Amino acid sequence: MLIDSYRHKGMRKSLVRTVQEKGIKDERVLQALEQVPRHYFFDKAFLEQAYQDKAFPIGEGQTISQPYTVAYQTELLQVKPTDKVLEIGTGSGYQCSILLQLTPTVFTIEYNEPLYHKAQKQFALMGLKPQAFLGDGSEGLPQHAPFDKILVTAGAPVIPKSLITQLKIGGMLVIPVGDAATQKMMRITRVGEEEFTKEEFDNFKFVPLLGKQGWQ
Ligand code: SAM
Repeated sequence: MLIDSYRHKGMRKSLVRTVQEKGIKDERVLQALEQVPRHYFFDKAFLEQAYQDKAFPIGEGQTISQPYTVAYQTELLQVKPTDKVLEIGTGSGYQCSILLQLTPTVFTIEYNEPLYHKAQKQFALMGLKPQAFLGDGSEGLPQHAPFDKILVTAGAPVIPKSLITQLKIGGMLVIPVGDAATQKMMRITRVGEEEFTKEEFDNFKFVPLLGKQGWQ
């Protein structure tokens, strides 16, 4: 059974203050962080870790991203309530749950089968309804494209061409790009049919994006 106690809510408020102090300003993003019980995505033995501003192992060599990183990427994505969003790297399902606070139309894709099934169970427990897929997200989700926003939650060696071509005109891709040690957060906006702008932000360290257009 999922219990969200006053103590959990209090810890979440203080986590929100922490990410705010680190520079996150978007009120809708801060509200989403306050709404989603991050401890639901943790095993019972590790509940105390859920409201620290840290990444944490979720099995299969993967992690639930640090709350600040989740807030940072979500802020850059500028999600509107009418947006159709694709997340690549479902992992625990936490980032997807944050996106669902901002728009009801969220697609998410995970490469690792056990994590995909675990996240499906989690979404069902929480009554959430993203359109979740198992597969190689480095190629996007062509059968459901185009998207207003695409968010990649794993580090890519290059910007995958198939992702930018699955954006609507005016759409945005937020993706960490770099080598295995460090990646720069990038935001690519499709300003015309064949025209894109690229902005660069801070450095982060993500687990690798695998697959055809990721790390082989
Ligand atoms: N968004 C996740 C969360 O909220 O828990 C955290 C994501 S974790 C940092 C990165 C995830 O990307 C892992 O679950 C990994 O299996 C997944 N991944 C790596 N390569 C992928 C690919 N080509 N397609 C889809 N998912 C991929």
